[in-house]
Amino acid sequence: MFCYQCGKSEVLIKGLCAECYIKQYHILTIPADVSVRICVHCNAKFIEGKWIDANISHEEIIYRTIEDSIEINPSFENPIIDMNIIQMRGTIAESTVEATDTFFGKEVQEKHEINVRLNKDVCPICSKRNSNYYEAVIQIRSQLKKIENKKKEEIDKFINKTLDKLYKKDKLAYISQKNDIKEGVDYYIGSLKSTRKLSSAIQKRFGGLITESKRLVTKNKDTGKEIYRFWLAIRLPSFFIGDFIEFEDKIAKLLNFDGKKISAIDLDNNTIINISWKKSENIKTLKSSKDTEKTIVISKSPTSLQILDPKTYDVVDFPITPDIEKYSIDDEVNTIAINDKLYII
Ligand SMILES: [Zn+2]
Ligand SMILES: [Zn+2]
Repeated sequence: MFCYQCGKSEVLIKGLCAECYIKQYHILTIPADVSVRICVHCNAKFIEGKWIDANISHEEIIYRTIEDSIEINPSFENPIIDMNIIQMRGTIAESTVEATDTFFGKEVQEKHEINVRLNKDVCPICSKRNSNYYEAVIQIRSQLKKIENKKKEEIDKFINKTLDKLYKKDKLAYISQKNDIKEGVDYYIGSLKSTRKLSSAIQKRFGGLITESKRLVTKNKDTGKEIYRFWLAIRLPSFFIGDFIEFEDKIAKLLNFDGKKISAIDLDNNTIINISWKKSENIKTLKSSKDTEKTIVISKSPTSLQILDPKTYDVVDFPITPDIEKYSIDDEVNTIAINDKLYII
């Protein structure tokens, strides 16, 4: 077989010898001009009907666009490709792509020029954000008359941190507006989904009862779909962990809470009481953990323990229970006085 170009007898590719082949075929096929639609605010790019990859540098967008437009000739096995942005002319990145490879022992080198045009646009998320779009409002409220500024700041930091995390998956997880009012603080948030996640996170961290309501704002004329805005109010509790409370005629000490419930220990029988956040408004704080007082065990019998009342110095008798069994004479014990009754805690 002979090369149809030069007539040399050699291994042939598409009827050509290696030397003639590399004269006729390139390693890369690259268009001279490509364009990419990008969002001027977040740098997301519009590909196949979708806005993707926000927050990438222009340089990176240009290189990725070039990469996507390159076609490699499969006859070349290991080409080394080097891309360079030579200069920006307006929104056009004048760039070069160099490729090198060895082909049947011969060094092949080529250089292409490509212009990448950045078509500036605004993605729907940024356009919503810029128009102060919001789907839901979180209302931070308290069972107390007002929320202390320190608490507001702590919650504000927590909200911002949580939204930063949620933003990675939900680009509408942003605050479009914040209103500090007498009763608390209102946060207007881009996405309902993230607002729900945020409100549970606030509840888990700070406690409180969440109530949700919605209002019809508009009806889409074409689809007939009703569009609602959602209000999620969180009423922060008036109590703290360690407080002594009254709940449904029981005297108890608050142990902890999570997103679902509050746990307390009944001081009269040492059993755990779980209180749902729904019923939390019935919790009455009687004393705080600062109100406890220490005293001394003055005597102990198989059936009872006697201590000195830290206020009146009267002797108070306690029948032995598993919880106080461990104390001996002269031991220090913690007490709390509630409704004229003394409890060892
Ligand atoms: Zn040839
Ligand atoms: Zn954008």
